[in-house]
Amino acid sequence: MSQQSIVTTRRDILKLAGGAAALTALGAGSGHTAAPMLGVHRPSIYRFKLGAFEVTNILEGFVHRPPHPTFAGNLPKARIEELAKANGVPGDKYEQVYVNTIVNTGKELVLFDTGNVRGRGATTGKLLEHMATAGYKPEQIDIVVVTHGHPDHIGGLLDSGKPTFANARYIFGEAEFDFWRKGENVRDARKANREMFVKLAVPLGDKATFVKTEGEVTGGIRAIPTFGHSPGHMAYHVESNGQRLLIWGDVANHYIFAVQQPDWYGSFDDNPDAAVATRKRVFDMVATDRIPVIGYHMAFPALGFLERSGTSYRWAQATYQFNL
Ligand SMILES: [Zn+2]
Repeated sequence: MSQQSIVTTRRDILKLAGGAAALTALGAGSGHTAAPMLGVHRPSIYRFKLGAFEVTNILEGFVHRPPHPTFAGNLPKARIEELAKANGVPGDKYEQVYVNTIVNTGKELVLFDTGNVRGRGATTGKLLEHMATAGYKPEQIDIVVVTHGHPDHIGGLLDSGKPTFANARYIFGEAEFDFWRKGENVRDARKANREMFVKLAVPLGDKATFVKTEGEVTGGIRAIPTFGHSPGHMAYHVESNGQRLLIWGDVANHYIFAVQQPDWYGSFDDNPDAAVATRKRVFDMVATDRIPVIGYHMAFPALGFLERSGTSYRWAQATYQFNL
């Protein structure tokens, strides 16, 4: 196409745009009141079938913050800006989401992680209200599985000092629970986190089962040690009628920055080198076996696949695969 024809085309588009503006003006004078702006609307519930199980993802909240130095903290800010630009997202701000998962096995209702403290912020701590929209009451939860002890995962364990999920038993990684309970070698940035764990999680210890290594925690759900992001972080493999899913918790915390650059340090990772090694091991496993993944901080509905891209990976959000 010549330069001239591009210019002509652009002019035509501008003419069309002018025409549309004129039509809008006409409409405004036709007696109807203009519809009010309603603001952004995010879907907060996503349910799909996995074999005989039903899996529901619930967006409990989100915050906006700069991606650096949270990601690529060991590298210059320009690296994040370049990667963001190449992927069509801003380099100075990102949306951190918090996604809880409920698996209904037909026998038990299993909740993975409990979100932020209720009402912690205007846009977070909304697990209970969104659970109600999804059709679940807190007292229906049989098992609460905690992937790790960070604030956005344990914040909803208690509500006004009482267990939020009154009839639930709990699953914790043993190394994780012991680390936070004992409080030895807690880095400064996690001191408040430790106090929160003592307040919210330790009192539930007598109703908990502690998982040491890889193994089944209930029918079709087994733990996979994925240490690094936190000292005893656990991912959970879910399987029904041969269909598989990995709930990877915080193995990777952004669908672009942490997936395409698994080597980059995350400031949330308590042991960055172990977190990198875990990411690479888990990425290789889910890409090789084509296991779908739910990631706590992946873009909602936070269900997707990892595709290899040279020596790196890309997040491919699931579409209708599970509806067929
Ligand atoms: Zn998290």
